[in-house]
Amino acid sequence: MKHLDEYRDSKLAMPLVEELRKAVTKPLRVMEVCGSHTMAIFRNGVRSILPEGMQLVSGPGCPVCVTSASHMDAFIGMADRPGVRVAIFGDLFRVPGSHGSLAEASSRGAKVEIVYSPMDALDLAVRNPEELVVFLGVGFETTTPGIAATILAAKNQNVKNFVVFSTQKTMPAPMEALLSDPALQIDGLLCPGHVSSIIGAGAWEPLAQKYHLACVVGGFETADLLKSLILLARQVANNDIKVENVYPRAVAWEANQRAAKMVAEIFEPADMDWRGLGRIPLSGLKIRKKYADFDAEVRLDITLPEAHEPKGCLCGNILKGMNTPRECPLFSSRCTPANPIGPCMVSSEGTCAAYHKYGQDE
Ligand code: SF4
Ligand code: SF4
Repeated sequence: MKHLDEYRDSKLAMPLVEELRKAVTKPLRVMEVCGSHTMAIFRNGVRSILPEGMQLVSGPGCPVCVTSASHMDAFIGMADRPGVRVAIFGDLFRVPGSHGSLAEASSRGAKVEIVYSPMDALDLAVRNPEELVVFLGVGFETTTPGIAATILAAKNQNVKNFVVFSTQKTMPAPMEALLSDPALQIDGLLCPGHVSSIIGAGAWEPLAQKYHLACVVGGFETADLLKSLILLARQVANNDIKVENVYPRAVAWEANQRAAKMVAEIFEPADMDWRGLGRIPLSGLKIRKKYADFDAEVRLDITLPEAHEPKGCLCGNILKGMNTPRECPLFSSRCTPANPIGPCMVSSEGTCAAYHKYGQDE
């Protein structure tokens, strides 16, 4: 298959559904790590055709959902400072911190601008030389090369009023933290396709071996999803645990060396706070001292404030695959996309948002 349409073809999907039914010969619980997989699984109706015995739980792969409340509070604190303009991806706008969101800060006069890329934020800095423009780096390996390239561009162009607040996170570090908890009974991982295009499918091998965990890197169309689930079920049924890549049109076995080199020039591994998971050693990327002029935490002398999760929100457990959104008492009552209490309901890749939009009864 060469074209995207072929992966969406329903005639092709029906035999795969049948194959999946045959492949599931014993109960298994699979975690989809990536928020885009969660959304794609709902959108393509995959949950409704899951054979008995196969359970899907969502994981910590939505970058907005895992942004800690203390980081949100720090972002809001920066936006409130005179002379500072904060540039963000749109999903962050309404994410609650301890005492409100960037949307609320903006409505009381803070300068918050939605951008589509870090380069847009750099452009904003060039056009507003009297302000300090802070780009909020919230993402995984997929967004880090673009941020590194933007910092290099800012240096080359000698732009002095552009900085990045990096809360960039890396995989598979949080999965290691999750899987070391025996309460989380997971047999397999549907590994994130976009992240794997940067880190390579081989990056999942240590995890597969250490936790005897079936791992399949999958794409996002119906046929991709079904094939991934079939291979996961077969690995578990045959006790033949390994890493398989069914997304070779985007993912290689090895890491993308060009991206890795650029990222290593600007960033270094650092401990990072994750919403719901706490601080995970070396699971994030901080800007190297050499580029401190572009580091918001250095330029604005930021200390992370102590934060409180929104009262009653179960996002932490949802990101760990311990609860489903329907088990949250606030789901679709006090917490809705129009009035989100936690980030999982705000993000376009959030699990609560997916359940609310596509299948709250599943
Ligand atoms: S950044 Fe990519 S891999 Fe991570 S949740 Fe989003 S789509 Fe999935
Ligand atoms: S429904 Fe809302 S309050 Fe409950 S876990 Fe999801 S985001 Fe949090």
